[in-house]
Amino acid sequence: MPPPASLKQSHDAYLERACQQLGYDGSIYELLLVASREIAVELPLHRQDGSLVVYRGYRVQHHNARGPYKGGLRFHPSIDMEESRGLACLMSLKCALLDLPFGGAKGGIDCDPTSLQERELEELVRRFVQKMHRNIGPNLDIPAPDVGSDARVMAWIQDEYSKVYGHSPAVVTGKPVATGGSKGRESATGEGVGIVVECWARQRGASIAGKSAVIQGFGNVGSHAARALVARGMRLRALSDVRGGVLADEDEGLDLEAVLAHHRKTGSVVGAPGGRPIENQELLELSCDLLVPAALGGAITERNAGRIQARTIAEAANGPVSEDADRVLCQRGIPVLPDILTNAGGVTVSYFEWVQNLQQFSWELAEVQGRLRARLETAAAAVFDSAGTESCSLREAAYCIATRRLKEALLSFGI
Ligand code: NAD
Repeated sequence: MPPPASLKQSHDAYLERACQQLGYDGSIYELLLVASREIAVELPLHRQDGSLVVYRGYRVQHHNARGPYKGGLRFHPSIDMEESRGLACLMSLKCALLDLPFGGAKGGIDCDPTSLQERELEELVRRFVQKMHRNIGPNLDIPAPDVGSDARVMAWIQDEYSKVYGHSPAVVTGKPVATGGSKGRESATGEGVGIVVECWARQRGASIAGKSAVIQGFGNVGSHAARALVARGMRLRALSDVRGGVLADEDEGLDLEAVLAHHRKTGSVVGAPGGRPIENQELLELSCDLLVPAALGGAITERNAGRIQARTIAEAANGPVSEDADRVLCQRGIPVLPDILTNAGGVTVSYFEWVQNLQQFSWELAEVQGRLRARLETAAAAVFDSAGTESCSLREAAYCIATRRLKEALLSFGI
């Protein structure tokens, strides 16, 4: 069997199909495919053990016709220019689908943050900003957390950037509330997963209460998605992280509070009370009402798509289902709630954070949550309606809506 399609290859194929469905000629696809700017920097770091390690930092700025570039910074050994390209274009479409006034960007550093001391990580992040500060800014490019980065990293970026340009909280989102972050940002992506899944069930005249969920990945997105789904009455059949998984012993599912306490203590869900061990691959193939891949891209490929037993898949991660797997799932009648809708809660509250920073006025949590729900419900309704009227998949509908908006903005400015 050939190697599964990469995140970038899958995304390009989805985009090309959207352009064809919209009747655009090949030049529009080319225009949307190629990023405006790509930056790579060298990041030497003196480790505390005396060794010198040279990391690579990346930032791909896709298109800014709809507003400043916006997207996460991933700290993971696998990040490179090619993956950043795919993820940056995905961000442009996600922002367009949610009608946020942003373009798309993505980047990161090819390090394993868990292998670095906190001081080493801080030095690496500050060096990244020293090399990149001319290319980011509140009206230019606004980074946010992604895999391996968090609010603490955003605060270091904010501080290093502000040394050159003065007080600039709007240069990053997903920062601590203490330095200008928005209430509700940390949980926003996971909460958004809950909102979108609930909208999907409601649209089909069903309820998610009492239904079973399996979640792969228990970081920011996975753990908050678990909270959001449990709050809506779902049962957690199994959870996992990079070290392995836990499968509930009982039908009523795992006790989330007990899992969270175990995770705080050990840094993993492995060995959490009320369950037995399960491998990540096996977990993906469990029978359940909802499968939520919330780790890295490429979790479901042509190799395991035929064995997936979930009734619905909600893409909480970016690009967890490869394009070849997407076709198999479509043939098997398993609906996939696409990433550009399902995990858009994070960038939506990032937008609210940026607005609050520019206004120098902070909102209460209830306002953030109400606006998040309204934005996601509007986008979800548009996707579900369009999929129904066009008789296409949810992903095709989402890509068509976003691609049309992006193309209109790009062509309004002229090329
Ligand atoms: P994170 O670093 O907080 O957590 C990642 C989780 O995935 C960890 O639990 C890790 O152990 C687990 N993991 C890593 N490799 C794994 C593997 N091979 N098998 C099983 N588990 C594995 O990252 P995050 O911020 O939660 O991001 C997760 C996904 O969601 C990414 O695809 C990211 O691009 C996407 N996303 C994040 C946000 C956000 O606001 N953080 C927003 C939109 C999309």
